[in-house]
Amino acid sequence: MPNKGTKVYCPNCRKFTICRALSPTKAGKPKAQRWYKTDHRDISWFRRARACSSCESLFLTAEIDERILEELIALRTNLAKKNLAIVGHVRSTRPWLVRTEDVPRELAEEFIRRTAWWHTHSSGSPVRAPKHSDRIYRSHHGWTIDFGANSFLVGKAISRCSIEINKFIDGSISGNLQEIVDLKKKLIMHIRGAVANNNQDEYAGYYSLTGPDMMFGAQSIDVEDGANFIIQKSGINELICP
Ligand SMILES: [Zn+2]
Repeated sequence: MPNKGTKVYCPNCRKFTICRALSPTKAGKPKAQRWYKTDHRDISWFRRARACSSCESLFLTAEIDERILEELIALRTNLAKKNLAIVGHVRSTRPWLVRTEDVPRELAEEFIRRTAWWHTHSSGSPVRAPKHSDRIYRSHHGWTIDFGANSFLVGKAISRCSIEINKFIDGSISGNLQEIVDLKKKLIMHIRGAVANNNQDEYAGYYSLTGPDMMFGAQSIDVEDGANFIIQKSGINELICP
């Protein structure tokens, strides 16, 4: 495919890619390209069908006065605020929607004491920040700690690690013992997967690392520390490895 055409945001690739402009008829729409909403005449746009050269998906775009987009964003923000109030009521009246926390608070606190760092200390080197453990609270995700615009879901991280530890233990009695280094990699992924944004919306992927650290502004959680802590606490060191 020649690299010909304008870069446009492809909703499937979720990035700007070269997209060919096509007639709307290619997307099964009428040929006309100038549209408006009869009950909102200011919402008038120029329609194009676009074909992404990366993923070949076909989508429609609307060339429109940007102020309409600003209005959309303001409305979205407003709607989110209204829903936030409703969500509080919905969850408080339906306990089954809230995760039952089975990780003891002391364990969650110890995890934070052993993994939290502060990166702008006057010494110039990162220092451990055990006092963060005082800030743990219970959200619908279970034990949670906020770091600026993100929340680390420490209860979920430990809980998912415990499932992994149990797989390791089951393996040891079926003669199928994993290497500790492989277990550690899996634990690290569970820790990196337990982060939410400031709306308490858990990220679908894994939080990025800087060295061994998930950086939250000047704060961090060291995922190596986290995996080592879980392994040390789990007692699996007592198992006999070949
Ligand atoms: Zn695409």
